[in-house]
Amino acid sequence: MDNPQIHNLKEEIRETVTQAITIPNHKCAVFRAGREDKFSPQGKAQLLESDQYESYIFDCTLCKACEQDSKLCTAFQKARTVLTLQKKDPQANKELLQNLKTTGNIYGIRN
Ligand code: SF4
Repeated sequence: MDNPQIHNLKEEIRETVTQAITIPNHKCAVFRAGREDKFSPQGKAQLLESDQYESYIFDCTLCKACEQDSKLCTAFQKARTVLTLQKKDPQANKELLQNLKTTGNIYGIRN
């Protein structure tokens, strides 16, 4: 069983994906560059429903171009939070968070 925070985030993600009527793939720069469904807002939304999104959700730039129509960017942010809480986020994200904790910036530069 997930911890309550993860459980609640997953419920909110499911609700957002269920309510996403219009999924504007054409607005997504990552999809326009990658040209594969897994890079599109719609493809990511389908992966969120299947709970198999570890390797794709960090491809999203969180630019919010898809947000006006569907609130999916918010769901993608929450999915990243879930992965981080589960310690399944990519190594680069772990390093970024560690840098923030130790130096106050994502680059790890000490003043
Ligand atoms: S928030 Fe992510 S999925 Fe949405 S348009 Fe931007 S890059 Fe694409």
